[in-house]
Amino acid sequence: MKTMGIGERLQQVRTRIEQAQRQSGRAPGSVCLVAVSKTQSADALIEAYRHGQRHFGENYLQEAIEKQSSLAHFRITWHFIGPVQSNKTRIIADRFSWVHSVDRLKIARRLNEQRPAELGPLNICVQINIDSESTKSGIALEKLPELAAQIADLPGLRFRGLMAIPKESDSAESTKASFRKISAAFEDLLAQGFPIDTLSMGMSGDLETAIAEGSTLVRIGTSIFGPRR
Ligand SMILES: *Cc1c(COP(=O)(O)O)cnc(C)c1O
Repeated sequence: MKTMGIGERLQQVRTRIEQAQRQSGRAPGSVCLVAVSKTQSADALIEAYRHGQRHFGENYLQEAIEKQSSLAHFRITWHFIGPVQSNKTRIIADRFSWVHSVDRLKIARRLNEQRPAELGPLNICVQINIDSESTKSGIALEKLPELAAQIADLPGLRFRGLMAIPKESDSAESTKASFRKISAAFEDLLAQGFPIDTLSMGMSGDLETAIAEGSTLVRIGTSIFGPRR
């Protein structure tokens, strides 16, 4: 049996996204697909790029920088989705268009100061630790209003919305409840007047649930590239 290529798998993911949009009454094209390429080779990214993929997400900075160097001529939008160390903010501010994993003011301030003006504001999502897991980054929901207000004041950043990874669970109900909490927090911020538009939630195993709960951006690795090495 021939194994499926990246192009075919990418098409399957697009179909899943379209179906989920339809089933939950969401507008076509309202969900952005970010291909999560951590541990994948530059060749794998090129393959996805050839099939029309433009947004790529990376977790590990050193690995990302190497791929960015070999893919400098491609028109890729790079998303940083891993934990941000404060001594790495300069290079992140320089090389990425988006950071999904901001969870403290110190990091936001450094990204703001270090973002080169000619690149325009860096797009920021605040990561929420929705299930209060000690192993995960992100802030508690109670701390969101203050951090959101502080980030919105930084001119080198553009506060776009929220990111979360629900705890691993066999129960679709539990995952759904976590997504619903994030979605409610997002709606609260909108009601307070924050001009946000991005709810970064949903991965290979739960993108349908995330889209049903209002996700506008899914981060998909395994379903596109296969198991990580
Ligand atoms: C690895 C990763 C993903 C992709 O996960 P898959 O289950 O492989 O789709 C999405 N978001 C973050 C933050 C990740 O680290």
